[in-house]
This record gives sequence, C-alpha cells and structure tokens, in this order.
Amino acid sequence: MPLVVQKYGGTSVGTAERIRAVAERVRRTRESGYEVVVVVSAMGDTTDRLVELARSVAPEPDRRDYDLLLSTGETQSTALLSMALKAIGCPSISLAGAQLGIKTDRVYSRARIMDIQPDRLKAELANGRCVIVPGFQGVTDEGDITTIGRGGSDTTAVALACALEAPKCEIYTDVDGVFTADPRIVPTARRLSSISYEEMLELAQMGARVMHPRAVELAELYSLLVEVRSSFNDHPGTLIDRGDAMESRKHVRGIAHDTNVAKVTLAGVPDCPGLAHALFAPLAEAGISVDVIVQAASIGGLAEISFTVSRADLNQAMQVVEKIAAETGASVAHGTASLAKISIVGTGLQSAPGYAARMFGTLAEHGINIDMITTSDIRITCVIEESAVEEAVQALHTTFELDKED
Ligand code: ASP
Ligand code: MG
Repeated sequence: MPLVVQKYGGTSVGTAERIRAVAERVRRTRESGYEVVVVVSAMGDTTDRLVELARSVAPEPDRRDYDLLLSTGETQSTALLSMALKAIGCPSISLAGAQLGIKTDRVYSRARIMDIQPDRLKAELANGRCVIVPGFQGVTDEGDITTIGRGGSDTTAVALACALEAPKCEIYTDVDGVFTADPRIVPTARRLSSISYEEMLELAQMGARVMHPRAVELAELYSLLVEVRSSFNDHPGTLIDRGDAMESRKHVRGIAHDTNVAKVTLAGVPDCPGLAHALFAPLAEAGISVDVIVQAASIGGLAEISFTVSRADLNQAMQVVEKIAAETGASVAHGTASLAKISIVGTGLQSAPGYAARMFGTLAEHGINIDMITTSDIRITCVIEESAVEEAVQALHTTFELDKED
C-alpha cells in the first residue's frame, strides 16, 4: 500500500469540530488505499498561550522546562485526533514525542533533527493503523523533549516522510495552496498549480506564510513531492517539486511581502578592515538574525552600513550598534520599525534582463520610495515604507501579469 504523510496546521485542528472533520479526511484517505501517518500542530493559538503562560511564571524560563511545556500543545491534538478516528471506526494509534524516533541536538527551542529511527511508526503501520504523531518536537540522546522552532510541524512532516520514504507529503492548511500574492490584498491573485522548490523557498523566506522555509529546504534535499492544500474543502492544492524548467523560466511566479521589518543604520563610521565583522559578530552572538545588508561606498573615508532585522529584535540590535558607534566614533546610529519588504520571485529572472527595471519603474509610478534593494538569482527584494506595501503588491501583480494563466 502506498504511504502518505499528512500534516494539519493549527487552524485545521483548531476546534473539536475541526478535529472531527480532519478525522473524516484521514479515514477517507485510508479507505482509498493508503497507509497514513498524520502529523498535527497544536490547536489554534495554543502554542502562543503556552508561551505567555511560561513568561507569566518566569521572565526567563528554563529552556528545558519551556520545551517540555510547549510540546504539550501538539500532544493534545495528537491524542484528540486519534480518539476522533477511533470514534468513527478508523483504527489509529497516537504516539508521544518520545516515541517518534526523532533525535535532535540539545539546543532547546530551536533543536535540529539529527536522526530518525521510525521503527515504532513502521510497526504500527504494519498493524494496519493510522499513526497520529505530534509535530514540532523530538528528543535528545538523553531522552529529554526538545522543540525544533516555531512553525516546526511542517519540518516534522517532511522529515518523517523522507525517513519513511513516502512518495508524498500533504500539508493541510486554511488556504487553497500557494498564491501569486496574498489574496487578501490582491483579489485577482491565482493559486499556482505547481511551483519549484527554489521558488517556494524564496517566497517562504520572504514572507509567504503557507509553508515553513526549513521544511521546503528539506523536501528539496530529498526530492520529496509536497502538496499544500486546504483542509476546509476538496479543491486541488499546489504541488511543490523540481519544477519544469522550460515553463517556469518564463515568468515572475509570485510576490511575497513581509511587514515585520526594521532597519538599523550606522553612518559616518571610519572605513577600515574589520568594521563589518565588528558589527555583525556581536549581533550573531546575541542570536539576532540579520537580513538585507547594504554598505554604501565610502565617501571621504567614512562608511555607511544599513541592515534589517525583525521588529522584535530592533531594540537589542540598537544596543549593539550604539555600543559600536560609541567605540568607533560613528556620527549616526539610527533605527526605524515601520518598513516592509516586497519581493518578486521566479526562476525566469535568472535568464532575462529587465525585471528589476520593471519592478523599480512600477514602484516609481506609484510614488513609492525604495529604501534598500537586494537580489538573489531568482528574486528581487525592495525595502519600502510599510504604509505603501499593499499598493506595491497590487501594482506589481498587475505589471507582471500574475492574474493571467501561465
Ligand atoms: N505549534 C507550533 C507553533 O505554533 C508548531 C507548528 O504549529 O508548526 O509554532
Ligand atoms: Mg502553529
């Protein structure tokens, strides 16, 4: 029998009614001739509530205790889904985090998966049961529960599908798949029937929230076929695979935006070897991830470096930068939080010139100022004012004709 790994996100299992609906879908999948492993997220905003609870009893909760607490959200939905399945006559078994065979390192809250020994899972599948497992967690060699980072259930599902050599992993969510842009902003946004791993990875990293970037990376590494689709209807979703180079090289495939952007600028600092290192090493030590970095050519021996961080990291990043400004005699250290990133993504950008000019031209026509620009082989990103982001997404969607069929 073919095996499928299905992952259901927080909204898909958000209420008892939703859990029963998911159970029906799992039963249908099994009855159509599949072995099914189901990975579930915590119900609704359970994880956020657990985070708040932890902070309300201790400002800096012990990391091991914290992961043990957070792991319970997924444990609840695992047990509930298995109960719902049995109640409709579908044989199932729920496993706890420690029974999955997922070994991680000891870096609590952002543990990496080191190894998977899915012997128990295989044995349960061989018994003819659906196996329901919690996402987002693993255990250390010592048997301590770890969590693998917020949004980690996608990664659990993909990792298990790879370890079990399943031909496909289905990611069930509350939207119909991957769209050319956020349909709440662009009513004419289209669902893409398929997209390549590299395009999906860029979109996910640049703010499209439909699938976690780490899970996309892992799927690409193992050439695992992934389908993102809705658990609320039976519409087809979006297939993520290697991509048809001939087709996908033609266009911009999608637009991603992210409003969780803050910018830090250090200006008037004497330009000398080691400056960038002096700035970014302490940021890395503080666990702050830096995104867009722009260093302007120095004028009169004075350099200017700007970079973006997530808004939650702005205050901490400013502390680091102000210290360096004081040490180096820089004239300006400045932070702003009201920015956004907007990106066009498509393997087509690689081979054809002119995309950047069209993007910048469209933003200019709308009077939108570009603050920073960065690119990859298949992406162009502009940092702009947050207040202009919706207009920018709509305008670029029209310019690149994303409302038209491929
Ligand atoms: N429940 C976890 C979170 O909210 C993991 C997940 O949903 O993927 O981050
Ligand atoms: Mg979640």
